[in-house]
Amino acid sequence: MQVKYSYLDRQYADADVEAYIEDIRALAKTGDFTLGYPVQQFEDRFSILTGQHVVGAASGTAALVLALRGLGIGPGDEVIVPCNTFVASAGAVSMVGATPVFCDVMDDFTISTASAQQAVSENTKAIVAVHLTGTMADMQGVMAVARRHDLYCIEDAAQAMGARYLGMPAGWHGDAAAWSFHPLKMLNVWGDAGATTTLNPVLDEEMRLLRNHGLKTRDDAVIFGDNLRISSLQAAIACRALERADWARAERRKRAHQLTDLLGDLYPRVKTPVHGPGVEPVYATYVLRVENREALRDYLLKQGIEVKVHYPRPLHLQTVGLEMGYREGQFPVAEGQAHQILSLPCHEFLTDSEIAYMSDQIHGFYR
Ligand SMILES: *Cc1c(COP(=O)(O)O)cnc(C)c1O
Repeated sequence: MQVKYSYLDRQYADADVEAYIEDIRALAKTGDFTLGYPVQQFEDRFSILTGQHVVGAASGTAALVLALRGLGIGPGDEVIVPCNTFVASAGAVSMVGATPVFCDVMDDFTISTASAQQAVSENTKAIVAVHLTGTMADMQGVMAVARRHDLYCIEDAAQAMGARYLGMPAGWHGDAAAWSFHPLKMLNVWGDAGATTTLNPVLDEEMRLLRNHGLKTRDDAVIFGDNLRISSLQAAIACRALERADWARAERRKRAHQLTDLLGDLYPRVKTPVHGPGVEPVYATYVLRVENREALRDYLLKQGIEVKVHYPRPLHLQTVGLEMGYREGQFPVAEGQAHQILSLPCHEFLTDSEIAYMSDQIHGFYR
């Protein structure tokens, strides 16, 4: 049996591709390709889903940049970022001229507030709380550190579509949240797109200016901005994709819980995903911590199960981190996880027989 990691082929065999094409055809006839109606419509719908102001952006990375710039973060400022994340969480900080300062994570792969606290200096301006794997970070803990030191908090929600913390989506606890609609994320478009959400109307206005050259009107720039607009075509696709978001979340959680039940008896050789109190995860990735990872990975790949590792090298040990002066041993939890983590295919189209096959093969390996 082959269990592929990607499910886009199933998503588009299943969904009514014609409906997307029809939306694109309708858009082409209007020529409304720059912001305009599709973007307005997407922002309105995403606003209902998240309960916040929404600024559509060119990508998740652009969304992070808008939030950071919108909060006035720039050269001379430090921003605390967990070291186990996709590189964009730190790259966006560097792109606004600030310095990412790494900290460790916890067993649930999200930011350790104790480690974040230790990383605070007099130049610290913000914390990026990454909801890695779709598991929300301990936002009460993060906000306690932020308040103690008068810091902003930006939630990296690129993997957190549909996740909740104390019943609320990302963006309700921090100052803003950045979302990605990249093809590998749960709400996916046909290219790149993202959004920043916030409850703060002043920040919303600032980010709206920053994404479109600082133009208040067609002929008057009130600040210098950038072109970080969401493509109107991708906005139209995102609108259509949003219709399956609730269904996808529920189905994916169901598959993840099945895997967790089936693999529970392998503890402690296989540790299934954990999360903090008040957290409703969505399993953007389903990440195990396992004994003998390299051998298990090779074995499962040979059995046709396309497992992955998110991420094999923490950011402080990638070339860019080493050049900043970081060294092995500084973040023991993340460094330990780098040798244990294994992502199984887990998505809303996974079949019962695929789930059973994966469980059987993992059990077979440890037997
Ligand atoms: C994907 C991702 C990003 C970047 O999103 P893009 O849309 O690819 O720019 C940022 N942070 C995390 C945690 C991600 O997974």
